[in-house]
Amino acid sequence: MKEIEENIRSVRASLPPAVELVAVSKTHPVEAIREAYRAGQRVFGENKVQEMCAKQPELPGDVRWHLIGHLQSNKVKYIVPFVEMIQSVDSAELLAKIDAAAGKVGRRIDCLLEVRIACEETKYGLEPEAALALALSEQTRHLEHVRVRGLMGMASNTPDREQVRREFSSLKALWDRLREQDPTMDVLSMGMSGDYPIAVECGSTMVRVGSRIFGARNYDV
Ligand SMILES: *Cc1c(COP(=O)(O)O)cnc(C)c1O
Repeated sequence: MKEIEENIRSVRASLPPAVELVAVSKTHPVEAIREAYRAGQRVFGENKVQEMCAKQPELPGDVRWHLIGHLQSNKVKYIVPFVEMIQSVDSAELLAKIDAAAGKVGRRIDCLLEVRIACEETKYGLEPEAALALALSEQTRHLEHVRVRGLMGMASNTPDREQVRREFSSLKALWDRLREQDPTMDVLSMGMSGDYPIAVECGSTMVRVGSRIFGARNYDV
């Protein structure tokens, strides 16, 4: 598993220092996460609540957990005691749930609003204008236990690099508009193993890289 350590170092070396690397460890065992941890990696992304909750107690307390997959409101309570950031918020109702649950454990949780930018049909994510409205709404600004930090998006899974670039650029433009209204919105999470160099060129501040670090995922196990 020395490979993981090397992959972490080479991905890091390819990123500008200000870009945060989220190592997406979904489907990979705790031992693989430990290997990345030994290479200095601290931020890890998981897309399932149950899997993140199973791994969290097995790893050092300074690991920073990001949820990057769809979150059902009845599962919010399981992650609020430890999660650093929820990147996949797609409704005002979910923000309110997170706020209430985080209040009970005395925490404030960073959130990103997930925006639908891909042309392909995806189930999750807000329409761009709806994301802007939600981020800037009075209701959101008054949540005491939630802090919306910015936007997250996924480009189409296509070999057409120009389409991917257009999609990332559209999210960057939306984020710029958001920041004109609220300069504290400092996170733009975009870019995965196949497209993160393009995302960084388009202005990403946070990339979510899985298979490029941990190898291919096997969903059958
Ligand atoms: C799985 C996943 C990633 C990482 O995907 P790779 O292609 O393995 O880098 C990034 N973001 C989200 C939301 C994901 O679900």
